Amino acid sequence: MTGLAETAPSGAQTDAAPARTMRALTLVGDRKIELLDIGAPPAPSSGEVQIGIKAIGLNHIDVWGWRGMAFAKRKLPLIVGVEAAGEIAAVGPGVTALKPGDRVVAYGALTCGACKACRQGRDNLCENVGSIMGFHVDGFARDLVNMPARLVVQIPAGVSFRDAACAPVAFGTVQHMLFDNAKLEPGETILVQAGGSGIGTTAIKMAKAIGATVITTVGDDAKAAKAKALGADHVINYRTERFESIVRKLTAKKGVDVAFEHVGPDTFNGSLLCLKRGGRLVTCGSTSGQSITMNLFQLYLQQYRIFGSFGCSLRNIRDSLAKMASGLTPVIDTEVPLAEFERGLERLESRQVFGKIIVMF
Ligand SMILES: [Zn+2]
Repeated sequence: MTGLAETAPSGAQTDAAPARTMRALTLVGDRKIELLDIGAPPAPSSGEVQIGIKAIGLNHIDVWGWRGMAFAKRKLPLIVGVEAAGEIAAVGPGVTALKPGDRVVAYGALTCGACKACRQGRDNLCENVGSIMGFHVDGFARDLVNMPARLVVQIPAGVSFRDAACAPVAFGTVQHMLFDNAKLEPGETILVQAGGSGIGTTAIKMAKAIGATVITTVGDDAKAAKAKALGADHVINYRTERFESIVRKLTAKKGVDVAFEHVGPDTFNGSLLCLKRGGRLVTCGSTSGQSITMNLFQLYLQQYRIFGSFGCSLRNIRDSLAKMASGLTPVIDTEVPLAEFERGLERLESRQVFGKIIVMF
């Protein structure tokens, strides 16, 4: 991390009025993020709002972006930050549902709002989705950002900016995985892999809240105690025990109804082995690698159902915020100030976290 830039890069305002600048955390090369002063956005245009960002939630997609990813089509420099909460600073013509001072989060994938999937409220299946903010195009880690008002959701009273910053990606993703895809029901048993992560802690809390039995895996004994305290019924330290055999034992050899995956090659086949016949595996990530070999006999003989899940709908974000308002709040590992964004990423990459890392403006 270097300090402030000496001069604003191109794109700064050049009108007669003194140019307004703002801070922006900018990825300038692999593993190189700088806090730059850049031109502030213009007044919001028709249908847009301008949001003053207050908090950013870090996610593994930030770590991928930071490390550099061969398949991602994007240009550097890039403003980082894929999920955020903030306050409306100004509204453009035609915006009536929001006003300055409203506390909001924003949907960070630029969907079209017009295709069949969008009209059906299945926003993350938009046929014309442009880009993911903070990954393909400039993201939220800046003082001010202009967004289409239709992609903005109000934060209910009583929910902090810090907690609300976890709604668009962490909470929204888990809400979508558990209830739209895996259709987890009260009384069912779920295996949550890597229960100490941001989405793992969220999955434990959401599954317990509807009355599911939760078995979770963690990498050390300190995390085991914390996962227990969150309400997990059984916690397995995957470094000292084989989770596949423990899950078979805990379920009287039947297996679990749902496996919640995001680890990838290290655990994916083990998670499948933990399912009962007809069980559902839902995955939104593969932090341990990209590819696996799968036993197809097992897949169809056991009638497994596997769901790939990425992102969520605006409805999932609203539902997530409502859950927070009713007391189901995110587990926060650390808050770091804006200038220490990279320290947050390093902590996330090391997997030495329990819950979410939040960057405060
Ligand atoms: Zn669309």
